[in-house]
Amino acid sequence: MKRGDGRKPEDIRPMEITAGVLQKANGSAMVKMGRTIAVAGVFGPRQMFPRRLQQFSRAVLQCRYIMTPFSTDERARPGPSRRSKELSMVINKALSAAVFLEEFPKAAIGVYIDVIQADAGTRTAAINAASVALADAGIPMRDLVAAVAVGKIDGKYVVDLAGPEEELSDCDLPVAVMPRDGRVTLLQMDGDLPPEDVKQLLKIAKEGCAKIYEMEKEALRKRWMK
Ligand code: ADP
Repeated sequence: MKRGDGRKPEDIRPMEITAGVLQKANGSAMVKMGRTIAVAGVFGPRQMFPRRLQQFSRAVLQCRYIMTPFSTDERARPGPSRRSKELSMVINKALSAAVFLEEFPKAAIGVYIDVIQADAGTRTAAINAASVALADAGIPMRDLVAAVAVGKIDGKYVVDLAGPEEELSDCDLPVAVMPRDGRVTLLQMDGDLPPEDVKQLLKIAKEGCAKIYEMEKEALRKRWMK
């Protein structure tokens, strides 16, 4: 089976990861997954304001995901939306498990992600960009987080759905993992699938994430091992 863009079912889209793209952030990264592009900037650890939001025994991760107005065909409304708030929360949860938050009590770590071009899989591109940006900022982590969305088109399990594929797929299953021990930090699904499908989809998602994980490490090596 060949997909609309010529990929095999198990292929991720052409991907680029660059660490350290922003001068003013403590850590940053840009991720391109096909036509989807996300940029992440990390600030901190820094003092948490307002103080009432401080956590006594750990840092708080403050994630903000947003799509720029020029990221979609129809100019997206600028500013936060219900969707972007929900995704900010989901991304926060997907990353929190990986960060040693307990090393920075009362602090805040700001993770700001702008999707500058959207063609499906923006939450997964955002997680990949943020994960590399956190590592680029030197924040201690258990592991990097790698994320990809998988689906099922014409009875075949496919990795990294592109925009035109989203409508064709029986489901859209974004997954994030910490590949070293295989822990899953994001797993979402809408729709109706037999258990065997879910199992297989999770398996191919993990395989896709393993490829992305290698690219994340390579981007950090390129930036820091000169
Ligand atoms: P994800 O981007 O993580 O796949 P969704 O499933 O919510 O999340 O969105 C799928 C795709 O639909 C996005 O990647 C984007 O290409 C498109 N999209 C989402 N929200 C909007 C919007 N407000 N305007 C135009 N396109 C959008």
